[in-house]
Amino acid sequence: MSAFWTEPDWDEHERVEVVHHRASGLTAIIALHSTHLGPAAGGTRFWHYAEPSGAMRDALRLSRGMSFKNAMAGLPIGGGKAVVLLDKDGTKTPAMLEAFGDAVEALAGRYVTAEDVGASEADMVAIAKRTAHVCGLPALEGDAGGDPGPFTAMGIYHGIKAAVAHKLGKDSMQGVRVAVQGCGSVGGGVARLLAKDGADLIVADIDGGRAQALASEIGGEAVESDMVIGTACDVFSPNALGAILDDESIARLDCAIVAGGANNQLARPEHGRQLHARDILYAPDYVINAGGIINVSLEYLCRQDGKACDINEVRQRIAQIPGRLQTIWDASAAQGLPSNEVADAMAMELIGRG
Ligand code: NAD
Repeated sequence: MSAFWTEPDWDEHERVEVVHHRASGLTAIIALHSTHLGPAAGGTRFWHYAEPSGAMRDALRLSRGMSFKNAMAGLPIGGGKAVVLLDKDGTKTPAMLEAFGDAVEALAGRYVTAEDVGASEADMVAIAKRTAHVCGLPALEGDAGGDPGPFTAMGIYHGIKAAVAHKLGKDSMQGVRVAVQGCGSVGGGVARLLAKDGADLIVADIDGGRAQALASEIGGEAVESDMVIGTACDVFSPNALGAILDDESIARLDCAIVAGGANNQLARPEHGRQLHARDILYAPDYVINAGGIINVSLEYLCRQDGKACDINEVRQRIAQIPGRLQTIWDASAAQGLPSNEVADAMAMELIGRG
């Protein structure tokens, strides 16, 4: 593994720690991109990486993304991310989770963790045995916290409606054709919310049974996962993988809008420019998918203040996502710049790096 400051994704990160705990077998990277606005918050990814350099790349890239996401969501928190390097069998033990909790605790509140890919609420409960700097813990009815997925889906639903109003001039989703890639926690939630509003849903997942089940439930159509990107639709909503928008896939898009929850959708920043050149309205991923971090960060901040956090405050903040997108799209139109570049510039300004 090369030194992290020679990595292409190195972006003046404030702190990057490699943690190895021999007794439990834990190997983890904790990256703090920025604490300009508050403690660096972002989930922990549990993943098997073929090469450690892949883990470092994820930690650097995802922590920077969290700085941008948290700043643009108006949250008083900075950006960080952790990755735990699993073996090829995906072994994750209670001792590893506790050792990871100790590593988070050692940062004395400069980093706050939560769920990411490969992590569950139960994992957060295990980590919380060793540190208070964790969120995404089970919530009581009416309180913020718990699984961020449904809140992320809610923000994307609001964002898609704003995009349809902005680009297509429609104030209803009735008959609007939306192709949803990924039928998991986020994609499934988005599809269900849109179906209730009368949208025509096309859904796809590499787990074909999952797509079929969702299509039957909401009265939509399931298509093969490799077909969904080229499906004729008004909105393409990526809710599965990152780096899904590249030269090849952008050429195949047959839609007016791209708006979905997957992190790091653009393979490279210039792919935002390609969407712009094709006159496809793009909702920057880290702006539209902030609902989950809004939920768990408010849970954390309220707990630090010793009070419960009303779920209505979470809902009110998520309802501000369309307004932020509108500001970005307006600036994009006024400046003739792609929306991802406009959003990045706004985020950099907010974290003191303008
Ligand atoms: P999930 O694991 O619940 O669902 C992902 C789904 O995508 C699975 O059903 C999987 O089979 C499917 N999938 C994987 N590769 C695919 C492919 N090539 N084509 C079609 N389907 C494919 O995950 P999730 O929590 O719904 O997260 C989805 C995306 O949203 C991820 O990129 C994640 O980083 C991002 N995200 C999630 C949250 C959250 O709160 N869960 C917040 C922000 C961003």
